[in-house]
Amino acid sequence: MTQLVLMVLSAQGMETALRIKAAYPGAAIYGLEGRVNGADQIYSNFGETLREHYRNGHAIAALCSAGITIRALAPILENKGAEPPVLAIADDGSAVVPLLGGTTGVNVLARQLSTILDVSPAITTSGELRFGTCLLNPPAEFHLKNPEDGKRFIADLLAGKTVRIDGPAPWLEEARLPVDENGAMHIRVTPFDVLPQKSELVFHPKVAVIGVAGNTSADDLKAALARAGIALASVVCLAISEEDSAKASFHLTAAELDLPLRILAAKENDATDIVSAFIKEPVSLSGNGNLAIAIAATPADVTLAGHRRGRLAVIGLGPGDPDFMIPAVKQELQRAEDILGYETYVRMAGTFRSDQIIHMTDNREEMQRARHAFELAASGRSVVMISSGDPGVFAMAAAVVEALHESDNPAWHGVDLQILPGVSAALAAASRSGAPLGHDFCILSLSDNLKPWDIIEKRIALAAEADFAMAFYNPISKPRPWQLPRAIEILRQHRGPETPIVLGRDIGRPAETLRVITLDDLTAEQVDMRTVILVGSSLTQSFDRTDGGKWVYTPRWYGTKPAH
Ligand code: SAH
Repeated sequence: MTQLVLMVLSAQGMETALRIKAAYPGAAIYGLEGRVNGADQIYSNFGETLREHYRNGHAIAALCSAGITIRALAPILENKGAEPPVLAIADDGSAVVPLLGGTTGVNVLARQLSTILDVSPAITTSGELRFGTCLLNPPAEFHLKNPEDGKRFIADLLAGKTVRIDGPAPWLEEARLPVDENGAMHIRVTPFDVLPQKSELVFHPKVAVIGVAGNTSADDLKAALARAGIALASVVCLAISEEDSAKASFHLTAAELDLPLRILAAKENDATDIVSAFIKEPVSLSGNGNLAIAIAATPADVTLAGHRRGRLAVIGLGPGDPDFMIPAVKQELQRAEDILGYETYVRMAGTFRSDQIIHMTDNREEMQRARHAFELAASGRSVVMISSGDPGVFAMAAAVVEALHESDNPAWHGVDLQILPGVSAALAAASRSGAPLGHDFCILSLSDNLKPWDIIEKRIALAAEADFAMAFYNPISKPRPWQLPRAIEILRQHRGPETPIVLGRDIGRPAETLRVITLDDLTAEQVDMRTVILVGSSLTQSFDRTDGGKWVYTPRWYGTKPAH
């Protein structure tokens, strides 16, 4: 589905938008800066933001008057064929007015939104009212090839002409069209790539399945479709075996042709067998073991066998504050079907829908968690693995990539694996205090759970000797009481007592505290597991700020200060 954008200008509009979003979770709420709280995104210029969504083809519901919306879009209304659905909704939810996008489903959307808001949609398209269903907006398993002829076609029908229908068009049965075998107008439903004639609408039903195995390229596939005369819009999916799902070429081919990919768990690697899993009694079956095309009589005769390509996204939430979470991570959380993570982080990620499955895990056994995530994703699910901060910094991403490295399961290698970054604790704490990591720095974990303590000591000593600024993660815990005092001792052998130290605790969370002290004053008692310690280099400076705290920075130069 295309993304639905709710443009909100007022607090009342926000209430209505939230009612819509509760029933339509894919919607994204855009709120006017300074007027609206709790939106997914903030904008400052209504017209520009609206036009950008329009150009990107997003469905838009503006919670304001139709006039404001029309005036904002007027300068760019040229290409009727490409326009996305645009509606105006009264900010109190009392009226839903479809404005644009008759051929892209605005009336369908208007009905859905009206149902949510419990009002009647203000549908004004005469063809739509007269025929009871939108001829130009068939169900998803039919594609209108020539929407540009639609307006004229409906005008002719309204003027009294009759229409002949060829091919199964079940959605038109209740349309009260003026059907006549000898009609001057023509509706043709066919999987073949025919050229629409005058006074004709052509619909392609989704009835063809292409199976591929071996080394089949996008060009081979296009050539085979051309030979068979099949319209791409009639293809339900490109089907492959699980064995082949790790081959990037198939994913690229599917993406290039914009075809959904289906993966069959059975170990079939004969294309003809693959397509038979989708269509039991094809009206036509052509091809060979590498590439086969089967066609069913109607869309209802196609079984959607196998599963989609699964996705595993390893995401970083940032330190806590949702404003520090990158938009790609927010989108990933929306699309997730399964969410895996340590309870604290799952709670930090926000609220989930009832259809999203949450797998709370404990904080140990990372490899086991990683394998569980791959198993879910390899079955076609959209899985999100949550870390705080950045997933690649002492968190799950490394375990996930390692689990993949260790596996020779093609289904795991076929998963769409994405690692999405987040603001790591050191960077969040640094930004709160100025720029203590403004020059070369290194990040160290003081936990010796997964590495020997003598390596940690060696790294601290060498990093201190090399005069790096440092960030210490996992600085102390009950089972590891003596390690931090030892680390402080090593630091003191290399750095002066006045070296600035930043202690950032719960940064970006409600209990946030930030303290700037000196190395001389640093004791283990001031630190816990929720603290990140930033240690200055020999050049790191600190000075008073007006709010009583201190600024800290490490200059970009080294040695002698350059002349400005
Ligand atoms: N992936 C995380 C780090 C996980 S290790 C990241 O990139 O931030 C856990 C350690 O990170 C904690 O012991 C603490 O030292 C630090 N940490 C994580 N979140 C923090 C926060 N919000 N404030 C201060 N320190 C934090």
